[in-house]
Amino acid sequence: MAAVVQLQEIHKIYDSGEVPVHAVRGVTLQIPKGEFVAVMGASGSGKSTLMNLLGCLDRPTKGRYLLDEIDVSGLDRNQLADLRNQKLGFVFQGFNLLARTTARENVELPMLYGRRRYSSRELRDRAMRSLDIVGLSQRADHFPSQLSGGQQQRVAIARALINEPQILLADEPTGNLDSKTAVEIMGVFQKLNEQGITIVMVTHELDIAHYCKRNLIMRDGRLVSDSQVANRLKATDEMKKILSAESEAKLTD
Ligand code: ADP
Ligand code: MG
Repeated sequence: MAAVVQLQEIHKIYDSGEVPVHAVRGVTLQIPKGEFVAVMGASGSGKSTLMNLLGCLDRPTKGRYLLDEIDVSGLDRNQLADLRNQKLGFVFQGFNLLARTTARENVELPMLYGRRRYSSRELRDRAMRSLDIVGLSQRADHFPSQLSGGQQQRVAIARALINEPQILLADEPTGNLDSKTAVEIMGVFQKLNEQGITIVMVTHELDIAHYCKRNLIMRDGRLVSDSQVANRLKATDEMKKILSAESEAKLTD
């Protein structure tokens, strides 16, 4: 079976400023279905640019990108938007939830942008199912400000799942979270990945990358390392360790 993501000699040059910036320099990469990839690298190494290309939010200056065997370079803006809506889910560092909108309504949003029209009943049912997957259906009527950072990120993940995407793209999804909450979110990703979703996430934390199956490292726009994770961490095990360490600390208080 062909890889869901196939990049061939991809380049991205930003030439809007005074000096052109060659942000991605000839990246060739295959990501098979069911993969869970962490993209690492120093600030400015091209990680977000690569994610924007993978997410069809931006087009490569040169090179070929096949998403689920569809050649993205031949598509116009509307076709790209449709492809994004059908195949991709996005999660960001800052959650990007609408503040005056409940968790459930935030999750419904991507369904309003697609070509299909849904009844309000359908919207509600699907949003509730999506919230259920991330364990937050009981908070459906809460506003973002009434939720913790980890809960807000779970709402954002539920939103990304609403159109049943094949690939989840996450740019530093744990960057705004404390380390315990970060492990919790990695647990959600691991569960989704076990159910078959392909995940590509940017992180600059090596311990977070150890929850993924495969680690890529970028430097100056190039892919300089591509390796399988040898001793993969399991979020549920790590969570147990954290909780028992916390209860021991309480006993000795
Ligand atoms: P990372 O996510 O690894 O920090 P980026 O992909 O954001 O790296 O940036 C890679 C390079 O491209 C940097 O030099 C950055 O300044 C530049 N860059 C990113 N976005 C743009 C843009 N829209 N216009 C011009 N230059 C950009
Ligand atoms: Mg970045």
